[in-house]
Amino acid sequence: ASEDRLDRLGALPIRDDLRGLVPYGAPQLDVPILLNVNENTHGVPDDARKAILAAVEAALAGLNRYPDREFTRLREALADYLGHGLAAENIWAANGSNEVLQQILQAFGGPGRSLLSFPPTYSMYPLLASGTGTEYLAGRRASDFSLSADSAAAQVAEHRPNLVLLCSPNNPTGTALGLDVVEAVYAAGEASQTMVVVDEAYAEFAQQGTPSALELLPGRNRLIVSRTMSKAFALAGARLGYLAAAPEVADALRLVRLPYHLSALTQATAVAALQHSASLQANVADIKLQRDRIVAGLQDLGLTPARSDANFVFFGSVPDPRAVWQGLLAAGVLIRDVGIPGSLRVTAGTEAETSKFLSVLAGLLGTGP
Ligand code: PMP
Repeated sequence: ASEDRLDRLGALPIRDDLRGLVPYGAPQLDVPILLNVNENTHGVPDDARKAILAAVEAALAGLNRYPDREFTRLREALADYLGHGLAAENIWAANGSNEVLQQILQAFGGPGRSLLSFPPTYSMYPLLASGTGTEYLAGRRASDFSLSADSAAAQVAEHRPNLVLLCSPNNPTGTALGLDVVEAVYAAGEASQTMVVVDEAYAEFAQQGTPSALELLPGRNRLIVSRTMSKAFALAGARLGYLAAAPEVADALRLVRLPYHLSALTQATAVAALQHSASLQANVADIKLQRDRIVAGLQDLGLTPARSDANFVFFGSVPDPRAVWQGLLAAGVLIRDVGIPGSLRVTAGTEAETSKFLSVLAGLLGTGP
């Protein structure tokens, strides 16, 4: 049946550059322990839940009207949350950071333009490029997946892309980039007027002392820092991503956004959650603890976890990743095979979920009790 559907899709007058493409899709399986898409498994704390409910209820009274197209209160709340001297005019938001990135590509990419990023990295980048008709350029990393300032800058100078997307901490490897890399890429993009986007979806989970590219924004109007409420704020289901940049970057995105793209319910939910960021950040601290337990546990099992500044851990030296992934699944634990030989990726869960993952894995590797 699915071949028939593929044939029927092929018979439609779809854009040539979309022919044969496969949609983004981590498997959505019904498994008790879901550690495969880097969600916040700690849920929304009670006080935030109550506040969101009250805010949504209040918004219902005005649901016959279009929402605030400028989502002003939300931009103010996001600016307050980020600090760094940012104001509402520096903030833009959309339905998930995927949509933020798509709008950036709509405004600064498109036919005849190019986007450079450095695989292995977030698998949506090439899909966002193809969806917007932007040429995707796959840059190179060192064999340990690190990216130095010199190498990144040289690749920008070589390709002169319209956009560079730096993922920090990087998905799937989990490691943050030094700010020297961002600075070097920005400087190398001066001649080609390259827009530099730093995707900091996981910034709140960074290890102590890991800086944010927000620090670099003053004086750099081609720099954009993208964030999301899907991870640290445990709001993946609400769909709220945002960015910080020069006010004129937000003006550029106003040219491509759909009017009223952020629903009144989304705006109310996000503002209420931001007012309860303290209780949400308490869960962040526990997630970091579980992340560090995973790193230590994997090392004990003879595996090689990468340094993680995120809520997930990428690990190598797995003898048979497919079998390990299957064995975990059979025990009710879903993790991610990102298609890199000898490696797997796991999201930090609650304490109980993390313990279960580690003990099942130990059993599978034959080092269990
Ligand atoms: N960037 C990165 C690096 C991610 O891993 C994700 C989510 N997997 C996103 C962006 C998109 O998140 P959202 O659209 O939920 O904000």
